[in-house]
Amino acid sequence: MTAQSSRSTGSVSVGTVTLVGGGPGAPDLLTVAAVTALRQADVVLFDRLAPSDDLASLAPGATLIDVGKRAGSHPVSQTGIEELMVEHALAGKRVVRLKGGDPYVFGRGSEEVLACHRNGIAVTVVSGVTSAIAVPAAAGIPLTHRGISHAFTVISGHAPLTDNELEGLTLLGSTIVVLMGVGTLPTLSQGLLRHGMPGDMPVAIIERGFSPTQRATVSTLSAVLAVAASAGVRSPAVLVVGEVVRLAFSGDAAAEDLVARASEFAVID
Ligand code: SAH
Repeated sequence: MTAQSSRSTGSVSVGTVTLVGGGPGAPDLLTVAAVTALRQADVVLFDRLAPSDDLASLAPGATLIDVGKRAGSHPVSQTGIEELMVEHALAGKRVVRLKGGDPYVFGRGSEEVLACHRNGIAVTVVSGVTSAIAVPAAAGIPLTHRGISHAFTVISGHAPLTDNELEGLTLLGSTIVVLMGVGTLPTLSQGLLRHGMPGDMPVAIIERGFSPTQRATVSTLSAVLAVAASAGVRSPAVLVVGEVVRLAFSGDAAAEDLVARASEFAVID
């Protein structure tokens, strides 16, 4: 389904909301549906991790509103964002709510859909390329590989993982992808070790995917805390724990050797 047209309730012409996944930051990873919705938008409410460099030309007819949230500070609260979105739609505007990655992957997209439903506003969701898959791929890491990992779990590190979660992930034995996980890296790494995951399990931390300063830091579960501290790893970053990390180095014997040694690491620019 494409962007919806306005409809009328009584004398008021009600607009629409389109929740658009903007992808992981590369302008060419915006979908055609995303570009179309932006071109037709009257108002764009965009997040910090949404691709915003070229927004004025992508949405030439729109008022652009930065509602970006930074760790620890919320320029516009979630309720405030929903109110803005509803207010503009009720005023008859075609509102695009542009988010980083995919709107339904830790994007609070479903809360915004519910806010539209509560206010009788037609809402469409345009899926985006999620950083959970694309950022590891940008560092050469596939999340699955026949014979190595046939599943992956994408988990939020916003709050520390519980013992049950850590145990379940260890038992599953497949790829783990953590978003918003830099702050809780200590509980993640120590917890996985405590539940029996081998200390030489490779870990990759990919910061600022698709930006000119993208950086991948690779280590092992037992070394990752020290390595992340000395490398000065910061958010936004995607963490990957699993044997698939080795595939980023296939054919590069020296780098494979680095991954195999717990006390050292490789930084791949
Ligand atoms: N809906 C988004 C995720 C929102 S949560 C998606 O599908 O991608 C925000 C987290 O996503 C960040 O803390 C970080 O873990 C990750 N992230 C998003 N874009 C990123 C990027 N370009 N590079 C590294 N991590 C990114």
